[in-house]
Amino acid sequence: MSETPKPGNFITQIIEKDNETGKYAGNVMTRFPPEPNGYLHIGHAKSICLNFGIAERFNGQCNLRFDDTNPEKESLEYINSIKKDVEWLGFEWAEEPKFASNYFDQLFDFAVELIKLGKAYVCKLTPDEMREYRGTLKEPGKNSPYRDTTPEENVALFMEMKKGKFADGEMVLRAKIDMASPNMNMRDPIIYRIRHMHHHQTGDKWCVYPMYDFTHCLSDAMESVTHSICTLEFQDHRPLYDWVLDTLKTAHPQQIEFARLNLNYTVTSKRKLKQLVDDGHVEGWDDPRMSTISGLRRRGYTARSIRNFCERIGVTRSDGIVDVGMLEHAVREDLDQGANRAMAVLNPIKVTLTNYLDDKEEIFTVNNHPKKTEAGTRQVPFSKNLFIDAADFAETPPKKWKRLTLGGAVRLRGGYVITCDEAIKDADGNVVELLCRYDENTLGVNPEGYKPKGVIHWVSAKHAVTAEVRLYDRLFNEAAPDAHHETKTFLDFINKESLVVLQNAKLEPSLEHAAKGTGFQFEREGYFCRDLVSDKLIFNRTVTLRDSWAKIEAKR
Ligand code: ATP
Ligand code: MG
Repeated sequence: MSETPKPGNFITQIIEKDNETGKYAGNVMTRFPPEPNGYLHIGHAKSICLNFGIAERFNGQCNLRFDDTNPEKESLEYINSIKKDVEWLGFEWAEEPKFASNYFDQLFDFAVELIKLGKAYVCKLTPDEMREYRGTLKEPGKNSPYRDTTPEENVALFMEMKKGKFADGEMVLRAKIDMASPNMNMRDPIIYRIRHMHHHQTGDKWCVYPMYDFTHCLSDAMESVTHSICTLEFQDHRPLYDWVLDTLKTAHPQQIEFARLNLNYTVTSKRKLKQLVDDGHVEGWDDPRMSTISGLRRRGYTARSIRNFCERIGVTRSDGIVDVGMLEHAVREDLDQGANRAMAVLNPIKVTLTNYLDDKEEIFTVNNHPKKTEAGTRQVPFSKNLFIDAADFAETPPKKWKRLTLGGAVRLRGGYVITCDEAIKDADGNVVELLCRYDENTLGVNPEGYKPKGVIHWVSAKHAVTAEVRLYDRLFNEAAPDAHHETKTFLDFINKESLVVLQNAKLEPSLEHAAKGTGFQFEREGYFCRDLVSDKLIFNRTVTLRDSWAKIEAKR
C-alpha cells in the first residue's frame, strides 16, 4: 500500500538501530492490542497506522490481538467491529486474530511458576484494607500479612481458586515485588482475581482471570513481539512488565511509548463514547458525529484520508492537542480529488422559465470532475421548471451579491444564463416561486451586452429525485469538552446543531442510484455521501467545502 516512502519517526529510528545491531535478528513483530469493550475511535487509528505501518516498512508482521481479560465489559459485537475497522483502514494482520484468552492456560502456569519462585502469593485482604496497605505517593505501603506464606500453601490455594471454591473478591493473587517502591505499580500488584463469569471466548472454563498488566506483557512475549508500542500512560507500567518477564525468563519485547492522539472538539475515550450511545445522545456507535472509525466511515471519511491524517500528525513522545480541522482538511483534500461532482438543491425554491417551451427537454452533458477527464461525464436533464436553493435568491441583496436577484442574471451551472423578472410570494410574504427568462444564446458562451453575476446550481423539477439530507457538524461546541470544567461535564457541550435534517432536498437524477457509501461533492454545498446503512435515499454531509469553524475561532 505504501505509495511513496514515508518519513520516519523516533520509533522507526530505534528499530533501524536494533536491526543494525541484530538485536532481534532483524525481525520486526508488532501488534495492535485493543480491549474489545467498545468500538475503535480515531485515536486507535493512530496506533493502528503506526503498528501496521511499521510492520510494512520493515517487512515484518503485525498481530491483531484482543486483550480480553475483562469479560463483563466485552462482547462479540465489539470484536467484529474492531476486525472490520482494521480491515477497512487497509491493514492485514498476521495469521488469525489473536486473543489473550488463548493464553489463559499458559498464563495460569506462569502464575504458578511465580508462586513456586516465591514471587507471588494469595492475599485475603479486603479491597479497603488493600488500599490502606498500599500507601500513597508520599508514603510507602505496608506488607500484607499473607506475604510470607509458603509457596506450597499458595499453590494449593491458587488451585482451589481456579476450581471455584471461593467467591468473587474473596482473595487475589499478587506479585511479590516491593511495597516501598516509589512506583505504585510495583507495590505487589494483583495479577489474578476471581470472577465467576462467562467469557465470550472461553465460556465457563475459568473463574479466575489474569489482570491486564500481567497478561499484556506475557502475551507480547509469547507472540515473539519485538517492539511493543504503546501510549505514554504505560511508561510507569514498564518496570512491572520488565519484572514479570525477567523473573519468568521469557522473551523480552522492547516497549516503546508514544503520545496518544488528542483532538479538540472531540472525545476519544471508549467510556465516554459508550455513554453517548447508552444515553441516547447519538444514534449509535456509528452515528456520523462520533469519533469512532465506524462513525467516520458512515460520515463519508475515506480510509485513505484517515491514514493521511495519521501520517501527518506524526509520532512523538510529547503530549499535544491536534486541531480537528486537520482531520477535516484530510477528508476534504481526498474527496476534492476523488469524489465526483453533482448538483443537489438542499432548500428548494421553484423557478419557472417563462420563455421556455412547456414540453421541451434538453440533456446537458457535464464533467464529473473539473480536473480529471478520466472521471467521465454525465447527463443532466433541463426543462421549464427548475429548483434552485432559496439561499441563492435575494430580493434586496447585500453588497457584492453574486447570485440571483430581481432584474439580475446568473448562469445555471452547465446550462443557460437566466434573468429574474418576478418573485411570487405566499400570504406571509415568503418567496415561493421565481419567474425567469432564459437566454437561448448562452449555452457554453457568454451573453452579449450584459454580464451574469455568478453561477448557481439547479435541478430540473420534473426529473429531480427527492432525498433526505443530513447536515452533520461537530458534536461538541467546546474545544476541550472533556477537560475539567467546574460544574459541567462533556455532555453539557453537545452542539445542538450538530445534526440538521432536510427532508425535501432535490437531487439531480443521476444520484438516485448512487451506491451506499459513495462520496460526492454537491456543487457549492460540500461533500456528501450516500448513507451506508439506510435503504432510503439519504445523504450525509461529510464536511463543508471550507472550514467555517476557523472563522468562528478567529472571532473569539
Ligand atoms: P480508551 O481510553 O478509549 O478506552 P484504550 O487505550 O483503553 O482506549 P485499548 O483498547 O486498550 O483502548 O487500545 C488499544 C491500543 O490503542 C492501545 O495500544 C492504546 O495505547 C491505543 N490507543 C488508544 N487510544 C489512543 C489514542 N488516543 N491515541 C493513540 N493510541 C491510542
Ligand atoms: Mg485500555
